[in-house]
Amino acid sequence: MNLSCQSCGAQLVVETTLRTTTCPYCAAPSVVERPPTPDRPRPTFALGFVQLPERARELARENLLRRSFWAPSSVRNASVEALRGIYVPAYLYSVLVRSEFSASIGENYTETETYTATENGRQVTRTRQVTRTEWRPLQGQHAEYVQEVLVTASSGLNNDELQHLEPFDLRQLRRYDDALIAGWIAEEPSLSQEQCLELARQEVRGHMKQRLAAFMPGDSHRELTFSTQFDNEALSVCLLPVWVLALRHDPKAPPLRFLVNGQTGAVHGKVPVSWVKVLVAVVLALLVLGALFLLFSK
Ligand SMILES: [Zn+2]
Repeated sequence: MNLSCQSCGAQLVVETTLRTTTCPYCAAPSVVERPPTPDRPRPTFALGFVQLPERARELARENLLRRSFWAPSSVRNASVEALRGIYVPAYLYSVLVRSEFSASIGENYTETETYTATENGRQVTRTRQVTRTEWRPLQGQHAEYVQEVLVTASSGLNNDELQHLEPFDLRQLRRYDDALIAGWIAEEPSLSQEQCLELARQEVRGHMKQRLAAFMPGDSHRELTFSTQFDNEALSVCLLPVWVLALRHDPKAPPLRFLVNGQTGAVHGKVPVSWVKVLVAVVLALLVLGALFLLFSK
């Protein structure tokens, strides 16, 4: 059956037996049944779940919830029973990037410098080695085939969260088959292909900046600027296995989300700080300091 979250916009596909009234991404109790959407792109590839439910719950409990001493007790001791395995839609992107760049390249050389110093009240002449840099302009072109860039196509899980769960071992990719998602919750690509393409290009631009910086000759460089052209772009929908635990611990705050990579077991999630705990600790520390002060000042 097809479900839609009124809160985060995730378009879910679940078996009737897995029918849920709360969204597995945001824990909002506003999941409604929706008609099928035939125009959504079908997945081409998928990665299967490797981490089993028990292991995923243990990782979520030990490596995320219990990890932070400063977290509110309600979060540290929260139940991980609500952890759900979701096939999260993503786009797998590859592109030929052609860049034109210009930069100033610095070459270091050493020079012997003469200087005067005062020693025992007398002026003396000394020499020392100094490193100087000569700058020359450089312009050029760089071409690189970038592949296996993953960007989210989910409205439940943003690209930043996906990046924290990467890398996935894409050698395990297989052709998508409906049988794979039987018994799991799957999300249909909820973001448009144009939105995902823009995300992918942004990610590649960031990557190219580092690649070009590493590509520069000389001892150092400055004023690196570049423009990029994207050719032979290819995008295919790929389903990724992710365990998601959504908690609403504070009705006023946005829901907390804890993630376990369903393939590698990598975890991600931000635990809030309990200011009450911090305050109690500070007061205790001050009391101890005060007691020590009184003890030793007698
Ligand atoms: Zn939702």
